[in-house]
Amino acid sequence: MKRRNFLSGAAAATGAAAVAAASSFPKPAVAQKRITAVMVSTWPRDFPGLGTGAQRFAKRLEDATEGRIKVQYYAAGERVGAFAAFDEVASGKAQMYHAADYYWKGKHPGWGYFTAVPFGLTYTEINAWIRFGGGQELWDKLAGEFGLKNVMCGNTGVQMGGWFRKEINSAADLKGLKMRMPGLGGDVLAKLGASPVSLPGGQIYENLVSGAIDATEWVGPWNDRFMKFYEAAKYYYYPGYHEPGSMLALGMNASWWGSLSKSDQIIIENVASAENDIMMAEFNAKNGEALTSLINDHGVKLRQFNDDIYDAFGKASDEVFATVRAHSPLAKSIDDSFKKARANLAAWTKISDQAYVAQRNRVLGI
Ligand code: CA
Repeated sequence: MKRRNFLSGAAAATGAAAVAAASSFPKPAVAQKRITAVMVSTWPRDFPGLGTGAQRFAKRLEDATEGRIKVQYYAAGERVGAFAAFDEVASGKAQMYHAADYYWKGKHPGWGYFTAVPFGLTYTEINAWIRFGGGQELWDKLAGEFGLKNVMCGNTGVQMGGWFRKEINSAADLKGLKMRMPGLGGDVLAKLGASPVSLPGGQIYENLVSGAIDATEWVGPWNDRFMKFYEAAKYYYYPGYHEPGSMLALGMNASWWGSLSKSDQIIIENVASAENDIMMAEFNAKNGEALTSLINDHGVKLRQFNDDIYDAFGKASDEVFATVRAHSPLAKSIDDSFKKARANLAAWTKISDQAYVAQRNRVLGI
């Protein structure tokens, strides 16, 4: 009797230990399956800011999963050309792209809103719209029409207005100018009599130097110094009406995304969200020093667009938005949501960031 008690007690103890041991091991099976994702991008390899940000995302996703999710990263031209990234992922030949979604405005003008539009949102504002203002839901709807699922994965902040060979003192000075500017900002230039062209980053310098284009915008001082545009154009204008906080996208094949476990989806979303923050911090940290060096070491002439030109940009932007709204019910919904968010956010920015920075800089004499 005693022995049987002892045995059953031992069995029970062993059983409990076995349960405790089992619960301390990682769960096997589906949640841990190994995944390989082919990722294409619109940036040349090691391109500061945008390219290095996309590569950092790929590496951090691998590191976060100790290599369980393997990312085969291809920079622009290594697998497909920059602007073929969309079709490569929509078709399922690749699983992810890193890009500025306004490159796809020819497929649907709604894509422009999910990078930046003229008179659009700053970094903090667009984050608010995407996360809490209905932006992500509309992005999902638009991306869903093309078999994609997209999330935020980087931001450049306010961009510069561009590089010009001559001073731009009135809207008339833009007439006949062949300028690189993608997205709806390019459509605004066209309304003002310029000829916008959309070139991927890797092809701008050669076109500017050869004279195939007269002017270009790219990003901001840190990125633009790397591009050496100052060799061909000395007038550097600010601020860019066309890209006030350009959001970069991680675009994923929707079927592939749907096949992932919830935990893998959250890991990918979180690594992308971290990159959204890291990239913005990097641009902010490096732009100031780069601007000083452009002016002092490379003879760049910094100029501000005057109010008359800005008024012309504003009027032309309204015309462009009207064209976008007429495209489709979804385009109208996106424009409605964006404008509602902009009204709300702009009023708050005015008495928070804008009012504070104006006072701080006045007191400090900046
Ligand atoms: Ca740009």
